[in-house]
Amino acid sequence: MFICDAHCDTLYRLLKEPGSNNDVTPERLKCGGVGLQTLAMFVGTSSDKKTIINTIEGMMAISDELRQEGLDIVDDPDLATEGEVKYMLSIEGSEIFEDDLSLLEVYRKKGVRMASLTWNYDNKLASCHMGDTSRGLSNLGKECVREMNRLGIAVDLSHISEKAFKDVLDHALSSPLASHSCAKALCNHSRNLSDEQLVALFNAGGFVGINFCPAFLNEKGEASMLDVLKHIEHMYELGGSGKVGFGSDFDGIDTKPIGLDNPENFPALIRFLADSGSFSDDDIADISGRAFINYYKKL
Ligand SMILES: [Zn+2]
Repeated sequence: MFICDAHCDTLYRLLKEPGSNNDVTPERLKCGGVGLQTLAMFVGTSSDKKTIINTIEGMMAISDELRQEGLDIVDDPDLATEGEVKYMLSIEGSEIFEDDLSLLEVYRKKGVRMASLTWNYDNKLASCHMGDTSRGLSNLGKECVREMNRLGIAVDLSHISEKAFKDVLDHALSSPLASHSCAKALCNHSRNLSDEQLVALFNAGGFVGINFCPAFLNEKGEASMLDVLKHIEHMYELGGSGKVGFGSDFDGIDTKPIGLDNPENFPALIRFLADSGSFSDDDIADISGRAFINYYKKL
């Protein structure tokens, strides 16, 4: 089975806590049969542009080291194949671009194929899920989205406010995605997406990667593979067939669902989903990785 994960924070963890025991390692990706791992480069919490650039460049240097260790980078997900581990780069938080949109092209050339407009702070482009709810996408944000569309950088709507989410769908020329988000109807958290948002995203040809953070999966704050299944089932009921996959958030989350500690557990999760009887073999292939690849084919 070809497996994709649309989001993890491993590069940031390697930068900030070198030598730490990461969830995601090349060995674990191989062991779990992951064909494509998206490695997010989080801009960090500083608003100083020089610090942000240094942070991103620090993670680019770690990405170069991974390549020297034999892990292949792709900037076209369709080049990923079963049996080999490849990775793709994304940027989490577009503060890096807000004063200089030409940097989008610079980082696109370095392999970045996805960027979220915000993390957990409002910025000049858009407001975030816990920010100013009256503010959506700014004119600069609209310009940024257009440039991302031109360059083939997927617009990631995880972390964004509801108003900005809607504004992107109204203005984007190509489909956005939510790389690591769950359904609000099942777990009422500001990071999760409402049914209205999910329907609009699926109608626009978007993709959702299910986040494994227990606090986003279950209001009790504890979760299992059954919760992952329920969120996928719910999204399928809203038109998400062929448009849902995984966005683990490994190395960005402190607690995990039972039995989902790291990429080695993907085969067990996929077996659990298949054995549930809720999904066809085709659905399982989509959820495991094909939906993510198909999303990029249309971008
Ligand atoms: Zn995130």
